Amino acid sequence: MSNDMGKNDTYSSKKCPECLTYIPVKAVICPSCKRRVGKITDTGIARKAFDWKAYLGFVLALAAFVFYIWWAFFRK
Ligand SMILES: [Zn+2]
Repeated sequence: MSNDMGKNDTYSSKKCPECLTYIPVKAVICPSCKRRVGKITDTGIARKAFDWKAYLGFVLALAAFVFYIWWAFFRK
C-alpha cells in the first residue's frame, strides 16, 4: 500500500535555492541567506519565492511593447 499524496512529509529539510543550504522544511525565510523561500518540490529543493517586482516589471514591459506595436502599426 502506498500513498503518494503525503510524500513531501517524508522530508525534514529542504535546500535553499539561493545558497544551497539545508533548511527546515517549514522555513519561509532561509536562516542562512535571509531570502524568502517557497515550498519544497519533489526534488527536495525549495521553490523560489514569488518575485512580485520581477513579475510586475515583466507585465509592464509587455504592456509597453504591445502599446508600442499598436502605436507604430495600428494607429490611424
Ligand atoms: Zn539561503
